[in-house]
Amino acid sequence: MSTDFTPALKLDLGATPPGQTQSAASAEAAGESEIHDVVIVGSGPAGYTAAIYTARAHLNPVVLAGSVTAGGDLMNTTEVENYPGFTDGIMGPELMSTMEAQAERFGADIRYEDAIKLDLAGEIKEITVEGGQVLRAKAVILATGSAYRELGLEDEKRLSGHGVSWCATCDGFFFKGQNIAVVGGGDSAIEEATFLTKFADKVTLIHRRDEFRASEIMQKRAFDDPKIEILWNKQVIGISGEAKVEELSLEDTVTGEVSPLAVTGLFVAIGSDPRTALFKDQVEITPDGTVAVQGRSSKTSLPGVFAAGDVLDPTYRQAITAAGSGCVAAIDVEHYLAGHGA
Ligand SMILES: Cc1cc2nc3c(=O)[nH]c(=O)nc-3n(C[C@H](O)[C@H](O)[C@H](O)COP(=O)(O)OP(=O)(O)OC[C@H]3O[C@@H](n4cnc5c(N)ncnc54)[C@H](O)[C@@H]3O)c2cc1C
Repeated sequence: MSTDFTPALKLDLGATPPGQTQSAASAEAAGESEIHDVVIVGSGPAGYTAAIYTARAHLNPVVLAGSVTAGGDLMNTTEVENYPGFTDGIMGPELMSTMEAQAERFGADIRYEDAIKLDLAGEIKEITVEGGQVLRAKAVILATGSAYRELGLEDEKRLSGHGVSWCATCDGFFFKGQNIAVVGGGDSAIEEATFLTKFADKVTLIHRRDEFRASEIMQKRAFDDPKIEILWNKQVIGISGEAKVEELSLEDTVTGEVSPLAVTGLFVAIGSDPRTALFKDQVEITPDGTVAVQGRSSKTSLPGVFAAGDVLDPTYRQAITAAGSGCVAAIDVEHYLAGHGA
């Protein structure tokens, strides 16, 4: 994913006094008069890492952490064993509160609010939060993450981190010697299933149609793997288990017949949606639905607007890659502001 953007604006942020444009004046009326150096939208590993770096660079970041989803995706999981620095692993929520505390230690202004509107095109960006307050900033980091698609079943959330997972790389290790299932029919479902055979004794791949959408080469991988059993024309309509997943209810999509499948894990691999609704009409978006960035940088198609984490990443989507990407965005913001005399 490498896109070249030509900056559309030449900025002189340091010299622009507040309240010069009409929209800035209306923003001032609705909110704070201060123009922040940087506002970070999102408080997952990408947002908090960007906050740590920008705070340490004296850019006084404001972090819009989200009203109910502060801390991001890792708040929905139990043990995280692959984030470096924690020999015995760490619980997802604890990892995120540690990152938050680290950002606060350096002075990040963390607000548990959602951005509801972004105006990113001008020199001064306007970020409207719930309640109508408008924040203004010279730079914005978009770190809103990506939502894994869910099956929408009653017990799916309850058993998340207790057998239900959306990430084989993250959780496969916990299923050594077990019988587990993967739902989906695309490349990523087959990739997850074949990866999981490293750990599980048996992986049942459940697909609601009688053929895969996945590429030929991926399909062959699944067909050739003795540990993978494919169940065609089946959809999961129930997940049961007290403390952990014990059984799935499968419905035949042709006959309607319902049958049980005893498994201890269910990996949902039916895609994910980068959270771009607030800004997809303003910055360039890739065919994958992620924010397009220039080369290895975090620069989006708009000057002063940077992206970090899963919102720009169709491939890796790990806490550590999101954190690394937050670092990139923070350094890009530093360079951008320095280059414009801020
Ligand atoms: C159940 C589960 C388990 C996982 N386990 C692991 C694991 O063990 N190891 C690993 O490396 N990775 C794991 N992952 C993947 C990892 O969580 C993600 O790759 C990582 O969280 C992405 O970080 P991010 O900062 O890009 O986005 P997120 O963590 O998704 O954070 C997005 C942030 O954006 C905020 N936001 C969104 N919209 C708005 C808005 N309008 N206004 C304000 N804020 C907004 C949200 O509140 C949230 O704070 C797991 C994911 C899931 C779902």
